[in-house]
Amino acid sequence: MTEEHARELDRSDPGWRELFLVPPADGGRYPDTAYLAGNSLGLQPRATRGELLEDLDDWARLGVEGHHEAKRPWYPYHELLTEPAARLVGALPAETVVMNSLTVNLHLLMVSFYRPRGERVRIVIEDSAFPSDSYAVRSQARFHGLDPDETVVRLETGQQVLDYLRREGDTVALVLLGGVNYLTGELLDIPGITAAARAAGAVVGWDLAHAAGNVPLHLHDWGADFAAWCSYKYLNAGPGALAGVFVHERHLGDPTLTRFEGWWSTDAGTRFEMAPVARPPASADAWQISNPPIFAMGPVRTSLELFDQLGMTTLRRRSERLTGYLEGLLDELTPGRPLSLLTPRDPARRGAQLSLRIERGSAAELARRLRHEHGVITDAREPDVLRLAPVPLYSTYHDCWRAADALSEEVS
Ligand SMILES: *Cc1c(COP(=O)(O)O)cnc(C)c1O
Repeated sequence: MTEEHARELDRSDPGWRELFLVPPADGGRYPDTAYLAGNSLGLQPRATRGELLEDLDDWARLGVEGHHEAKRPWYPYHELLTEPAARLVGALPAETVVMNSLTVNLHLLMVSFYRPRGERVRIVIEDSAFPSDSYAVRSQARFHGLDPDETVVRLETGQQVLDYLRREGDTVALVLLGGVNYLTGELLDIPGITAAARAAGAVVGWDLAHAAGNVPLHLHDWGADFAAWCSYKYLNAGPGALAGVFVHERHLGDPTLTRFEGWWSTDAGTRFEMAPVARPPASADAWQISNPPIFAMGPVRTSLELFDQLGMTTLRRRSERLTGYLEGLLDELTPGRPLSLLTPRDPARRGAQLSLRIERGSAAELARRLRHEHGVITDAREPDVLRLAPVPLYSTYHDCWRAADALSEEVS
């Protein structure tokens, strides 16, 4: 497959690259990077800076009055994010809130949804869980006075999770898995595992860090108890951006749930009654604690509006075409080279990302050479995995071609 063919595909199937700022290359033959690391940190939408400046200007112009008089008043600001976030993950607005960061939200949700009792104490995660999730569940086990080595069960595949639930389901309090695995790019059978976990009497939560903005989600219909995701990977809201939370409708307003609360947990209409006892709304807003950082919410709002306009169905279709194209290019390379694909072949079992195992030499060193010699930005996970994620919003077929061309030179 030739460079000219890649250019033709870009003409017939263009994305929305003009809406983003693509970093300049610091090596290679092209002015811009071929940016394939949007699964790690998404690129900046052009609209973000201007909209963020509007929020800053309102602070300068209005001071405290901005809470109610800003162009986008700060007091109810987070509500601007709720509906687009809900549509993104297939949830009801009442089930969704944007707040905090991902691991913090996982903890706040486990305060409500990890309630070990009697024999039912175990937490099932995947063996290749992102370390933050692993540390979070282990520390939750300790918080409840349990031994994390006995409480946390690490399983390798979705099938093993199903088998374990069949055999040991009545010992499982919580199943907490990544919807799309960060390392392999595998998309798990979220509805199937959710149904099996609930049938076994366990609570099921999903970490959608690599799934939100990558694959279509239907959290409400799938019946997950809770989910959380970050906004700086496929959602392009900037480093450390505020994260999202889903709590299924059946739990909203349940007075028996434990929850950590603050003044933003109480119903907004009663907040300034300054009452000593909170009256939480029957919505995911009840999980909020503090008044939110407006200048961190702005970039999430800008990004979610873009996803809302385009729709995940459209993005997913282009994503399948781009990733399939990159897969074809890598298939031409891998025979005779110390490279193999870790990601499932079936487009229904993966998102945008393809992961390569680098069987000789260091993945990090390879990523450095791709960047500095070719202007191709990928992401290495020590010791031997290179992740490449063409993002349907802004990646091009030519970016994929450049990555494959650079790999053909660098790996022999
Ligand atoms: C990216 C990622 C995180 C990062 O956690 P933060 O709290 O945002 O720092 C956690 N879990 C998974 C699965 C991730 O992919």
